[in-house]
Amino acid sequence: MRQRLAVGNWKMHGSLPENRSLLDAIVAGAAGLRRAACAVCVPFPYLAQAQSALAGSKVAWGAQNVSQHPRGAFTGEVSAAMLREFGCRYVLVGHSERRQLFGEDDATVAAKAGAALAAGLTPIVCVGETLAEREGNVTEEVVGRQVAAVADALGAGGLAASVLAYEPVWAIGTGKTATPEQAQAVHAFIRGQLAGRDGKMAAALQILYGGSVKASNAAELFAKADVDGGLVGGAALVAQEFIAICKAADSAQPD
Ligand code: PEP
Repeated sequence: MRQRLAVGNWKMHGSLPENRSLLDAIVAGAAGLRRAACAVCVPFPYLAQAQSALAGSKVAWGAQNVSQHPRGAFTGEVSAAMLREFGCRYVLVGHSERRQLFGEDDATVAAKAGAALAAGLTPIVCVGETLAEREGNVTEEVVGRQVAAVADALGAGGLAASVLAYEPVWAIGTGKTATPEQAQAVHAFIRGQLAGRDGKMAAALQILYGGSVKASNAAELFAKADVDGGLVGGAALVAQEFIAICKAADSAQPD
């Protein structure tokens, strides 16, 4: 049985006072979750604030990026061990903004996921096609290549300790959500691809959908058989929206 999971990606948003009220509201709203899990991935400087606000609550926390290196002369980078020191459970890896704006390729993404696992973090590995790729009918080729790179590097054991997020680039921050059928089709494709490597791991792997998830569309997305929850950007900055998405994940979770 795969647990449903809703994860907020705050991107480069927030301030100490804004975060305080958002985190307090999320803690209160998440208290009633019965089955699903939820988490927020915050900017690095706010990890200590997240840790102190969320410790002991039903809300886990994490970061949005991690270095593939354990330590050393890498100015501006943050290691997985540092994230663990702040109680992080999750870290986003290979978000499309990292791939597109910061030149992260499949090999770098795989190395980052490996570094996260080695430190005891759960990497949330993001994959997804651009609009041109979808329109060119190469979605499965692109997503399949991204997934294979991570699977080759981590092996079935590493993937079993990871989360995948399918995030079509054309749906991120655009207000244009994939239909539940489009999401399900790609999720089933990914699960089938991984089943070719290890059926048990593939059946147990959480695969989140990301791309303009909102309170108004979360339930129909999470109702799909292979959609195990959501990675949420904009809507995660609005407490009532994010709480409603977490509750949709909770309701979608089979007993
Ligand atoms: C994201 O940042 O991963 C994301 C899916 O953003 P949004 O929900 O705003 O589309």
